[in-house]
Amino acid sequence: MSDLDLSPTTTADGPTLPLFGEEHDQLRASARAFVDREIVPNVEAWERDEQVPRELFERVGDAGFLGLGFAPDVGGSGPDRLAQAVWIEELARALCGGVAADLGATSDLAATYIDAAGTEAQRERFLPPLLAGTRIGALAITEPGAGSDVAGITTRARRDGDGWILDGSKVFITNGARCDDVVVAAMVSPDDGAPGDDPHARLTLFLVSADADGFERRRLPMLGWRTSYTGELTFDGVRLDDGRRLGDIGAGFGHVMAAFAWERLAMSLGAVASAERTLELGIAYAQQREAFGRPIARFQVWKHRFADCRANIATGRALTYQALRLVVAQAERADAVDPTEVVRTVAMAKLATQRLAFEVADECLQVHGGAGYMMEYPIQRVWRDTRLGPIGGGTDQIMRGTIAKTLGL
Ligand SMILES: Cc1cc2nc3c(=O)[nH]c(=O)nc-3n(C[C@H](O)[C@H](O)[C@H](O)COP(=O)(O)OP(=O)(O)OC[C@H]3O[C@@H](n4cnc5c(N)ncnc54)[C@H](O)[C@@H]3O)c2cc1C
Repeated sequence: MSDLDLSPTTTADGPTLPLFGEEHDQLRASARAFVDREIVPNVEAWERDEQVPRELFERVGDAGFLGLGFAPDVGGSGPDRLAQAVWIEELARALCGGVAADLGATSDLAATYIDAAGTEAQRERFLPPLLAGTRIGALAITEPGAGSDVAGITTRARRDGDGWILDGSKVFITNGARCDDVVVAAMVSPDDGAPGDDPHARLTLFLVSADADGFERRRLPMLGWRTSYTGELTFDGVRLDDGRRLGDIGAGFGHVMAAFAWERLAMSLGAVASAERTLELGIAYAQQREAFGRPIARFQVWKHRFADCRANIATGRALTYQALRLVVAQAERADAVDPTEVVRTVAMAKLATQRLAFEVADECLQVHGGAGYMMEYPIQRVWRDTRLGPIGGGTDQIMRGTIAKTLGL
């Protein structure tokens, strides 16, 4: 690592039309200090160890950063989506996709689903330990045979007395191989109470505890996100009480579609903040490294490439913040916002920002020359980690399909 002065730039938008308030600026300062103190100095070691210690979840939970989007009755300090957005941006600046995914899968996936689909009793029972970081959460939708096509999943929940039996398998599940609680999407047949035979009317959510009999998992080796316990899960006759069903039978598809908005927005916020930080590192390297008698940053080709990166980051941020405004407005007053506009803007933000983060990483790796291909600089990790963005949470192709659908195509 170099010891260049890489003082961070602000990620808040300008003084006109403010999105974030003063309390969010204060939160940003404390989140940045926390990330700089507790995470950044440890990233290299965690990547080498291929794991973050479980205590990190507790430290982040203790500091309150897992609970910003949740109400105090379940251990949160919100709900404040803008505050949660600030935390996501600041965490992304650590430039470790694995750590961001590990923590995000608990709060932005598992806990968000439980909060939206669970009863009061389920929220009070399951959310506090997740938001405190004493339990790790995961969300399991994708299967070996169905990823983009959520309606194609085959994991099945059958009635068994007053409970359920779960059979099936899931794959590529973030935190899957180390989670304590996993939200699982499964199909229920009309004989067991589903309101129809269509897959959309059968999809139902359940919460499985990792110590349940018949639940097995294994970690998957990956290109990036080296700290992340992304895994393959199998459910072989797992018995669940009905108290572990989240939401009505057949209501799962609606919950998944609604939750996609936050998941994709969270990915967009993270991608923009990560691209901005990556560009800072790229420019700093180019200012310090000389070739042909001058700093590489002084060659016009690099000035232009960096300028393009900066302009594209600003474009991505503007669209992402517009999506954030819509999601916040929808949460405050659902009837004030056109739901199609929310879906389209979030999909456009994800489409614009995920490839962007990878492209900025690619440019910045290139300006490092041979050093970019070495493990010494963080750019190698950023390049690997950002490649997930156009795939996870719905691929670029699925985002284009979603946008096209809102255009009546
Ligand atoms: C690191 C990592 C973490 C993940 N974490 C989670 C998680 O926590 N929980 C979870 O449930 N899932 C998770 N996923 C799964 C992820 O959401 C899926 O990989 C993604 O949605 C794509 O599904 P798939 O892999 O089955 O690809 P497929 O659906 O098989 O698609 C393969 C290719 O075909 C394209 N394609 C598919 N349908 C169309 C179409 N209609 N038109 C044009 N092209 C199409 C896709 O865009 C893609 O390029 C994770 C994946 C990774 C890699």
